[in-house]
Amino acid sequence: MQTLLNCVDQALLVSDRTGRIILANLKGREYLTTLGHPDSREVNLISDVLKTQSEALLEKLEAGSAEVRLEIVSGSNKFLTTVQWMSEQEWVVLQIDPVVAQSSADAATQLTVQELLQEREITYRNLLAAYLKLQEVNRQKTVFLASAAHELKTPLAVIKGYYDLLLTGSLGRLTEKQKDILEESKESCERLVRLVSMFLNYSALESGKLVLQLRENDLRDCLDEMAKRWSEAFQRKGVRLDVNLDPSIPSFRFDYQKVQQAAANLLDNSLKHTPSGGTVTLVAKPHFWERRVAEVAPAQERRRFRLPRPNSVEVSVSDSGSGIAPEHHQEIFEDFVRVDRNTSGMGLGLAIAKRLVQAHRGKIWVESEARRGSTFHFLLPIEQ
Ligand code: ADP
Repeated sequence: MQTLLNCVDQALLVSDRTGRIILANLKGREYLTTLGHPDSREVNLISDVLKTQSEALLEKLEAGSAEVRLEIVSGSNKFLTTVQWMSEQEWVVLQIDPVVAQSSADAATQLTVQELLQEREITYRNLLAAYLKLQEVNRQKTVFLASAAHELKTPLAVIKGYYDLLLTGSLGRLTEKQKDILEESKESCERLVRLVSMFLNYSALESGKLVLQLRENDLRDCLDEMAKRWSEAFQRKGVRLDVNLDPSIPSFRFDYQKVQQAAANLLDNSLKHTPSGGTVTLVAKPHFWERRVAEVAPAQERRRFRLPRPNSVEVSVSDSGSGIAPEHHQEIFEDFVRVDRNTSGMGLGLAIAKRLVQAHRGKIWVESEARRGSTFHFLLPIEQ
């Protein structure tokens, strides 16, 4: 905050109602030095700076004037000063501009320019205050929602547990109709659990808790395990899930859970957007990732710089679903952005996947056309 205020090229001083200075930006301190007060702790804004005008001025301000403008003269220096009273905090705010000696002919112009500049500064200051306030409110909202979501987890786990128990038949035989209803309820419950976890993951990332547990891991195990967890959901919807994990992928350092989460979010989406009878393919293979310098080089040069061995792994999830129009390819990776309103979700799956992949210094993107299916890719560097 202090750094930002120091960037304002106008002197700014704030005191409490007794005149004790509680804030002075860089220009404000310079101004005090000009007035012969190099130490802002030893100066009283009301009695030393505003001097004799102070009593009447404060009365005027407290009576409801938005601000008062006056000229402060110190030796050969003249300063145009705006005094504001912030009743909520009981602060006196001073904004000071030096008045450059001018011929009387353009004094009026000078005043107008000064006024305009002052207004700009006031707007800037108000905007800054509003922005900081909004940010804080937004943070509080995320924390509140996260704790509410957390509270939902336990009852949901209990409900799901009872569905499982009922479906095993250990509490009595069920008719086919009852079984169907319970299966459907369990599915909705699972989706709710996924939404809650998605939100919790997001708020954890938002509050800066993303710490990677980098260990030497096998990506094929990681993705295979995740795909097996999803196979039942695919079967239920009648969507084929093909998994093709290249055996030449070496072990490398990555966060097992986080990569699983990123890939699971892509698989979740592909299942949601692919109609029954469609196919989803999960592929992982070694990749030569030539970063930007090599990418812009002409083809011949690129060949010369060819890497001796793959330096990354490419994971992709393709589906034969609804596809995504090109104009949405960037924005879908942003927080809470949803394009397709016919499916359930919060617009967080891709935003989370992007954060997780980028935390590994990887990149994520989509190739798709409307109604022609989509392929989401992400790259993970092998050497971190
Ligand atoms: P959510 O799925 O909760 O809406 P996401 O961040 O996972 O949020 O996805 C954002 C949007 O991207 C979705 O609303 C959808 O429109 C689009 N999308 C994501 N994956 C696919 C896909 N495989 N096929 C079609 N559209 C997709």
